Amino acid sequence: MTIIESDIRTSETMVDGGRIEEFRRLLSGELACPGDHGYDAARAVWNGMIDRRPALIAYCVTRQDVVEAVNFACRTGILTAVRSGGHNIAGASLCDGGLVIDLSRMNRVTVDFASRTARAEGGALLADLDTATQTHGLATTTGVNSDTGLIGLTLGGGIGRLGRKHGLSCDNMLSAEVVTADGRVLNASENENADLFWGLRGGGGNFGIVTAITYRLHPLGPTVLAGSLIYEWKRVREALRLYAEFSAKAPDALNTDAALVTMPDGNHGFAISAFYAGPIDEAECALQPLRQALPPLADRVAPISYVQLQKAGDASFPRGHRFYWKAQFLRQITEAAADALIDRFPSVPSSRSFFVFQQVGGAISRVPATATAYVNRDAAYDSFPVSIWSDAAADEENIAWAREMYAVLRPFGMGGVYVNNLGDEGHERVKAAYGENYDRLVRLKRKYDPDNLFRLNQNVHPD
Ligand SMILES: Cc1cc2nc3c(=O)[nH]c(=O)nc-3n(C[C@H](O)[C@H](O)[C@H](O)COP(=O)(O)OP(=O)(O)OC[C@H]3O[C@@H](n4cnc5c(N)ncnc54)[C@H](O)[C@@H]3O)c2cc1C
Repeated sequence: MTIIESDIRTSETMVDGGRIEEFRRLLSGELACPGDHGYDAARAVWNGMIDRRPALIAYCVTRQDVVEAVNFACRTGILTAVRSGGHNIAGASLCDGGLVIDLSRMNRVTVDFASRTARAEGGALLADLDTATQTHGLATTTGVNSDTGLIGLTLGGGIGRLGRKHGLSCDNMLSAEVVTADGRVLNASENENADLFWGLRGGGGNFGIVTAITYRLHPLGPTVLAGSLIYEWKRVREALRLYAEFSAKAPDALNTDAALVTMPDGNHGFAISAFYAGPIDEAECALQPLRQALPPLADRVAPISYVQLQKAGDASFPRGHRFYWKAQFLRQITEAAADALIDRFPSVPSSRSFFVFQQVGGAISRVPATATAYVNRDAAYDSFPVSIWSDAAADEENIAWAREMYAVLRPFGMGGVYVNNLGDEGHERVKAAYGENYDRLVRLKRKYDPDNLFRLNQNVHPD
């Protein structure tokens, strides 16, 4: 542990060394600084492209730690980032020369079976919630990569396999506990601080640090029918057309994502990932038309435990690799859009990269667009190229490929984008993520964070 004896120059201000040591004494967790053993591991996030050196990383263990960290940030004016799962594609949870308020040690989840609710702390991962709730045969919507931060995902919306049946993660938020920029602890729900509650359901980390969320749960599993149908590249046009038609008519319980991929043998291919939120026999009936319409090269749809399924995609997103993506929402997959993608996909420079359609709609689309901050509810698919590679020398070609894939689909997009899939793409794209709800978010920002302490995010400017 490095004791700070003199003042330190941070990216935005000089911070008094005595004040830092006082902060360290108030914190139950550690305060990591450059020079400390383990500092490099502490500053690593999921995307290996992000290489930043914070002046201080404060590990919070209790809600009071978060209050102390916010008070320290306010008093010193230090640039402040908030980190839970560290999965943000643009590395928003890490800053150069500032403070990182890290919640990863606050990851408890408690389930109340009687009321079918779960309370998750601010640093819980998807796996923490899925595992705890499935012990009781319950679940709620989370994402598809089990080590993503649950609260970071929920605050931006939260798209996942259960979304079409039960809504976004944020639609299942019953209440939240928030430390606001003035160091107060507020509860937000339909009955308490309802304006804040509205903003937390899609508005990201703009309004404070969320130390816990209570979720509504639904019966599920523990065994579900799920898996992939794989098609050869020579049939990709037929298979993508089939996917577009089949997914457009699917019942809410059926979620189908799809991807253009490179297969282990080096050939390109197409995969449809199906998941049914209900009994196995019902699921088999719902999938029969898809299986019959075009026989796949491989049929890997089978009963699987929901917890295992939620971890099944983790290996495709190896922590520390280099990642880049650029997303947009679609209302439909037209023939012209499919052709454009199929023509360009084979130039993909890395065999790990893919182009994905993540299906939304269903219950998500039945919530009015202004009912919560999350606005793009009339989308049918979130779509994006995912570039994954490991050699920094190959950055340019892998980023260029993803940008090109995004650009060819741009004429077919809705103009909207999922805030949690935004990189460093500029303020106009943040506005596109919020559409008609943006002005209301600005008013809320002025009320809860007028000095924009929480600005390392897809930022809603207070002025
Ligand atoms: C491999 C991978 C798979 C993904 N899959 C999905 C998916 O299926 N569905 C989906 O909806 N999204 C998905 N995402 C996107 C994901 O929702 C966002 O990256 C989200 O920001 C991750 O949250 P985090 O806590 O891990 O991120 P962090 O990088 O730790 O935080 C990102 C930002 O979230 C805010 N934040 C995080 N925690 C808090 C908190 N407790 N209080 C206040 N603000 C907070 C902060 O503004 C912070 O800058 C995926 C991302 C990755 C990398």
